[in-house]
Amino acid sequence: MFETINSFKSIPITKPNTLVICDIDNTVIFFKKSVFYFYNKLVELFSEDFSNHELVDITKIMYETHKMNNIPNHTDLYGYINLKRRLKEMSGNLCFLTARHQKSDEHTKKDLELIFINPNEHIIHYTNNEISKGEYTSKYIDLDGVEDLIFIDDMEENLVSFHCFFPTARCYKFDYQDEKIDSFHI
Ligand SMILES: [Mg+2]
Repeated sequence: MFETINSFKSIPITKPNTLVICDIDNTVIFFKKSVFYFYNKLVELFSEDFSNHELVDITKIMYETHKMNNIPNHTDLYGYINLKRRLKEMSGNLCFLTARHQKSDEHTKKDLELIFINPNEHIIHYTNNEISKGEYTSKYIDLDGVEDLIFIDDMEENLVSFHCFFPTARCYKFDYQDEKIDSFHI
């Protein structure tokens, strides 16, 4: 159903008019501290004081705050540049599809700029976390003339939903190397 990769270089572009639909968080962008960093710390410190549900809620708030106040990193800048070049040679295109909310548009564009992606070069689609990525694509992304459809995401549930709507699309699970992130943990 999908292949796991840790570099954009691993994605072959073989047909003209290929469309790459690419997730943002934990696919092209990562932050110094992952959501698991906060969760594990909270469990370590407060597992007796709060229920797991409460810890998850606190984790979400802490992670969102961390993301809003820290500079993002590219998961694989050189692999991404390589993919973009090969896509261009084949008249292909890349758009972003994120579960972020439309209202985060300005902040999202800023995040992309900070990892050296020109936000004006790509359409950014927001599901607002209200609709699956497969369904969103089937409803709102124009696939006319697209000869090869590629979907990249770090979350299996998104890959599964995409595969259900587009069984012939090539789906890749982007699994960036943990060492890169661990090295940022203080
Ligand atoms: Mg993601």
